[in-house]
Amino acid sequence: LDSDQLERQIERWIRPDIQRQKAYPVPSAAGLIKLDAMENPYIWPEDMRLAWADTLREVALNRYPSAAADELKADLRARFGLRAEYDLLLGNGSDEIIQLIMMAVSGPDRVVMAPQPGFVMFRMIAGFLHLDFVGVDLDANFELDMPKLLQTIEAEQPAVIFLAQPNNPTGNLWGTEQLRRVIEAAPGLVVIDEAYTAFTEADYLYLLDDYEHLLIMRTLSKVGLAGLRLGVLMGRPAWLEQIDKLRLPYNINVLTQASARFALDHYDVLAEQTARICSERERLYKALQALPLEKVWPSEANFLLVRTPEGRARAWFDQCRAEGVLVKCLDGSHPLLRDCLRLTVGTPEENAALLAALSTCPA
Ligand code: PMP
Repeated sequence: LDSDQLERQIERWIRPDIQRQKAYPVPSAAGLIKLDAMENPYIWPEDMRLAWADTLREVALNRYPSAAADELKADLRARFGLRAEYDLLLGNGSDEIIQLIMMAVSGPDRVVMAPQPGFVMFRMIAGFLHLDFVGVDLDANFELDMPKLLQTIEAEQPAVIFLAQPNNPTGNLWGTEQLRRVIEAAPGLVVIDEAYTAFTEADYLYLLDDYEHLLIMRTLSKVGLAGLRLGVLMGRPAWLEQIDKLRLPYNINVLTQASARFALDHYDVLAEQTARICSERERLYKALQALPLEKVWPSEANFLLVRTPEGRARAWFDQCRAEGVLVKCLDGSHPLLRDCLRLTVGTPEENAALLAALSTCPA
């Protein structure tokens, strides 16, 4: 076996931009309290897990899943209150839906836009598909920089604009009037990514009535089903029909379909857990004020963004990990995120451990 030859083959055949690209980083959380990925920290009550297992026993693993997933879609439609004139498209997480949308619009000189700092997969997937990604920086308060945004839309004519509401990793909502102005200025599709909608009063589904070129995306990940991988895209059937042609026929497996239907049938449990996360978020927000942090931003999501003393983010991250708590270090990922850490809201016990770990960090 000649490793030089293998390397030459890789160099020759794998796309140069992929060779240069770093894979999406997923650090090991073994033995750590995991507060880095916006998961719901709660599991289901024992009786509910037993009932779920009973449901799964009936699932036919020898058959392909329902390709249309009509029953699951009907349950989701009812849960979200989506009217009959709109359709749903399901993805293996909203990550897959982002990929499908971008595949549908990709082509030479096609541009995808999103405010920055934002969800990293918008930029990464655009790169995978040879789309030009244009990020438009938020202002210093993480609000949309309207003059710059409108000017960039005019200049770049983006095929798709992604707007995450609340935004990850800043945790805030932008004004509805600003969102409307962006949508009205957009020549192509606009996707409002409501991944964190369960943790805020805000909900933009109603905007579908006003804008033909708007799509709304949600996920079951943040309400406690991150392991299941189910994302949902909603909008006019004419758009979804086109995007659906790119979907692999059996992308939502039988276990996901059955489990998601079961979970939607027990949504009160998920809603109660979500409410607990929201009240913990407020408690954690207040408790963080007592630490020598430069800044703690308010949040409409299930995480909090904080700024450590200057130049300390990496040291605080390492110290938290040494104390058994994994958070996300965002320092270096964008100038506006200098010295920033993102803290997912956990259980009261996990948040106490986080606060204890943070209190040992160097000021
Ligand atoms: N959109 C945003 C804004 C996110 O933060 C995330 C998860 N970090 C996703 C989409 C992807 O979620 P999933 O693929 O788990 O549905």
